[in-house]
Amino acid sequence: MNQPDSKAEALTAPRERIAALRTVLAAQRLDGFILPLADEHLGEFIPDASKRLAWLTGFSGSAGSAIVLADKAALFIDGRYTLQAAQEIDAEAFEVRHFRKPPPTEWLTQQIASGARIGYDSRITSMRAADQLVAALKDVGAHAEPVIANPIDALWADRPALPLEPVELHPMEFSGRSADDKIAALSEELNAKKIDAAVLGQLDSVAWLFNVRGRDVANTPVVQSFAILRADGSADFLVDRRKLGPEIAAGLGNRARIRDISELAEALAEVASGGATIAIDPDRTNAWIRDRLVGGGATIKPLPDPTALPRARKNPVEIAGMRAAHVRDGRAMVQMLKWIGDTASTRRLTELDVVAELENIRANDPRHRGPSFDTIAGAGPNGAIVHYRPMLASNRALEAGSLLLLDSGAQYLDGTTDITRTVAIGQPSAEMKRHYTLVLKAHIAIATARFPKGATGGQLDPLARQHLWREGLDYDHGTGHGVGAYLGVHEGPQRIAVGDATKLEPGMIISNEPGLYLTDRYGIRTENLVLVRESAEIEDFLEFETITLAPYDRALIARDLLDARETAWLNAYHAQVRDTLSPQLSEANAAWLREATAAI
Ligand code: ZN
Ligand code: ZN
Repeated sequence: MNQPDSKAEALTAPRERIAALRTVLAAQRLDGFILPLADEHLGEFIPDASKRLAWLTGFSGSAGSAIVLADKAALFIDGRYTLQAAQEIDAEAFEVRHFRKPPPTEWLTQQIASGARIGYDSRITSMRAADQLVAALKDVGAHAEPVIANPIDALWADRPALPLEPVELHPMEFSGRSADDKIAALSEELNAKKIDAAVLGQLDSVAWLFNVRGRDVANTPVVQSFAILRADGSADFLVDRRKLGPEIAAGLGNRARIRDISELAEALAEVASGGATIAIDPDRTNAWIRDRLVGGGATIKPLPDPTALPRARKNPVEIAGMRAAHVRDGRAMVQMLKWIGDTASTRRLTELDVVAELENIRANDPRHRGPSFDTIAGAGPNGAIVHYRPMLASNRALEAGSLLLLDSGAQYLDGTTDITRTVAIGQPSAEMKRHYTLVLKAHIAIATARFPKGATGGQLDPLARQHLWREGLDYDHGTGHGVGAYLGVHEGPQRIAVGDATKLEPGMIISNEPGLYLTDRYGIRTENLVLVRESAEIEDFLEFETITLAPYDRALIARDLLDARETAWLNAYHAQVRDTLSPQLSEANAAWLREATAAI
């Protein structure tokens, strides 16, 4: 973080950097350059060495892109970063724009003349995004040119090195299925589709396939690597060999072959040769890989990542691990919620105090491996900013009569958690209670949903939203996302969201997180993870089992807004939380939980 007194100095950097970039572009006869915040694997979290957008612009948010032209430049962000961008961006160097008004490519086509040549880095652009860019520029008579090397890298003098964290095996005790078994099953699918091979670029896919984990990026335990899966039942694991101890080769099984990541181009040429048919996921694979395969003679078959569905359907060992991790995470949440109540009434507490204490409490667990995303602790009006993350400049105190929205999660060796609780600091108003209870009704609607096999997340989404819609209210995000098992906290393909067409299947784990956000006042969200399972009572129907265990704030519940069925569910859930967690709690924490979960 830049300290305020060095802000003026820091602001000169983007101007010098953008000027240097323009010189490089001019030398390559490029009229502009597109810079997304992404790396070769197109995942949610990227290593520092790939944070080129932050180096060029000074913007440190987790999503955005820039377009630099000869005489102007724009940074594209979404609404949650408006304040942060205003603080971090030199307005002389970059115009800050909303990424939908209009989208970056549309803005670009309005700025450039026919014949313009615009550079992009195909290594950090998905196949689909690259194709759309090429087509959009062609429409206005311009050209999209993949650069040979990213021009930022030559200018970025103190660019951090790529991570070299050791690779760890994810043992059968937690994975429940060997890499050999996964590779064999996926190879059969390739055979059935008459596909010779599939290339995997996303880190959670590769980690799942080979049962490996690492520490190369924040929040997700993955290793920078690629995989080539062949119809003959073998697979290449392309990874920097310096990250591998001797136990890795032995533990990978018989079907995986380790190759150094520097051999990727060669490996792609080999697999493409002879006119092979290669499957790649156009949204999850970079365009450079596609271009190498095509250059090597391959026919590309765009298909969804073949690991996505089998990874989403957790096996019994993964389910047991996720349940166990949630019991321990629930214990940490009880300690946390009690601490907030006790401490906020005796001294000044800020959002950052809450973030630090939660991390400390969770770190006591020997299986804890860190957060699964940056904790959202939004006090008062900050709670209304979806995906808000407290920083020094925005840090607020928890004030009496306000709400705190606390959304956090952890990575444990046996599972990944993601939980939101909204708590009242002091006495909540009647309106806060009404709004909280509407969100709780939406949350209970998903928790208790029963649906026929084949139903999609898109069909379930309005079950939650109806309770807000009835009052003329809504929330501008999905109701649920898939979650990995000691892997990504956001994992496809399943979601509970408007229009989502993925069928929900037994074993899938998904979040249940409706919310409500009142700009400049407060935000409310209630989030548990749920497991899709067969209905115990009705054949061919599915239902959810809630696996997150932590109390809701009873002070925020307006009893009269809940019907008998909702009240019964709430009391049964609280009893389950109490019965499961109490044996693991200190007497003081158990006593607090007894009160927090008393029937309403
Ligand atoms: Zn969450
Ligand atoms: Zn979530």
